[in-house]
Amino acid sequence: MNTEVLIVGAGPTGLTLANELLVAGVSTTLVDKLAQRSPVSKAGGVQTRAQEAFDQRGLLEPLLATGNHQTSTAHFAGIPLLLTRGRHRLPWRTIPQVVIEGFLEQHLAAHDIHVRRDHELIGLTQHDDGVTATFANDVTIEAGYVVAADGAHSTVRSLLGAEFPGRVGKSTAIAADVRLDGDAPMLTRTWSEDGYSAQVFALGTDPEGRPLHRLALGGPDRSLSRDVPVTEDEIRVGLRSVFGERVRLLELRYARRITNVSRQAAQYRHGRVFLAGDAAHVHLPIGAQGMNTGIGDAVNLGWKLGAAVHNWALERLLDTYHTERHPVAAAVLRNVEAQSLLMDWDGKHDPDVIAAKDLFASLTQLPEVQFHLDDMLSGIGIRYAMPGSDDRPLVGLPAPDRNIGPTRLHELLRSGRGILLDPSDKLAEIADPWSDRVDRTGVGADTDPMLVRPDGYVCWTAGGDHSTDGLAAALTSWFGIPHG
Ligand SMILES: Cc1cc2nc3c(=O)[nH]c(=O)nc-3n(C[C@H](O)[C@H](O)[C@H](O)COP(=O)(O)OP(=O)(O)OC[C@H]3O[C@@H](n4cnc5c(N)ncnc54)[C@H](O)[C@@H]3O)c2cc1C
Repeated sequence: MNTEVLIVGAGPTGLTLANELLVAGVSTTLVDKLAQRSPVSKAGGVQTRAQEAFDQRGLLEPLLATGNHQTSTAHFAGIPLLLTRGRHRLPWRTIPQVVIEGFLEQHLAAHDIHVRRDHELIGLTQHDDGVTATFANDVTIEAGYVVAADGAHSTVRSLLGAEFPGRVGKSTAIAADVRLDGDAPMLTRTWSEDGYSAQVFALGTDPEGRPLHRLALGGPDRSLSRDVPVTEDEIRVGLRSVFGERVRLLELRYARRITNVSRQAAQYRHGRVFLAGDAAHVHLPIGAQGMNTGIGDAVNLGWKLGAAVHNWALERLLDTYHTERHPVAAAVLRNVEAQSLLMDWDGKHDPDVIAAKDLFASLTQLPEVQFHLDDMLSGIGIRYAMPGSDDRPLVGLPAPDRNIGPTRLHELLRSGRGILLDPSDKLAEIADPWSDRVDRTGVGADTDPMLVRPDGYVCWTAGGDHSTDGLAAALTSWFGIPHG
């Protein structure tokens, strides 16, 4: 065996997973077919939960210290969720995908994990105890497990013959990184009478400190293939149609056509091979969710693979990757479909849709509606179905980043181990057999007893009467049978 885990694809999903496996103490090989990292950012919006995932590993502060980020406001179908401002310690931020990738790659390199570039996976064979991967450059790697983080057109997915049901993209629009002159309204989608629509997001600044923007531009002909190159002229015409002389294109940095494809792998686990990130789910990029979901996949899978490699995972633990993460992306696909309808993505100006959008816009003035949408988009509302999640309020949810004595819960999670908060110091007898994988802390824990998985999700809390019912079962489910 050359490596315990082979990750195919060094985008945000693969890089995040490599770090999770580093924290879990697993030998990992990370390959990418590209000779160099792409210099162009697809994603920019980073939601609260993805930031928390980085914070749990001590990576958020240094990532933000790179300086290339700004806080912004989440939106649903182009309706800014203004009432959610100040709701999270870690608010919605714009951090260009290339900044995140560059940062993670450097961090991994500092721990001697280097992306093996020019490695295009072309073959995959599974055996009882491992997987053989072959590459276009004649390299062969034997791995215990393989994770496909190779993006929307995943080779691994094709080689597995994995079902990928859903809808192919029917219509296209332009996503462009631009410098603009004038006062385009931020976030709000604006239509022109001749069938154009435009939405503008702040993307930070270029190295010279000049503001950059992401422009989403729909033209009157949405049937253009993704392969038709975008021209500067097309963008100027669209801007003029929507904004008149108010907004002018100063510079076009990069443009691509995006489609309203919506597909999700039927199964995320195929024996020893797992699908993650865009390899598992693709959708129209609305509301900053694709990269965020991929990061969530990586954080969910990393510690479980670690447990399998270190021989303490119950066999079903690896299956919970699919049962927990498939519903998350399924919900993203549905909210994206709803958003694209409300945003009139097809440009059909259907009066029924416009009426629904008007009604929806009035509903979003209600704080409860904004909070509900924010829970969904930010990832904070993701709740995994697990024993206890029906009747104990926090079980299945991300653990609140509470102060624990002089530290915070996220800081404790940096070890990559489970955390048992034991404020009254009464749980040692039950929990000590798992002390090689779960840290029990009583010191100053200003909270109810709680068991937190390495990915930061609560998997047990004491009942209202502080009973310890279910603790041993939760420890066994998530942390296996104690050794010896
Ligand atoms: C215009 C646009 C805007 C977006 N905005 C946002 C946003 O604001 N927020 C958000 O959350 N998401 C956004 N997204 C989505 C986000 O960019 C993707 O979800 C994200 O890149 C997926 O990451 P990934 O690591 O799973 O796959 P990718 O980023 O696609 O990385 C896959 C990697 O695998 C490599 N690879 C492919 N095939 C092979 C092979 N055979 N062998 C070896 N390596 C291979 C590729 O070279 C690549 O490096 C946006 C997307 C677009 C197009």
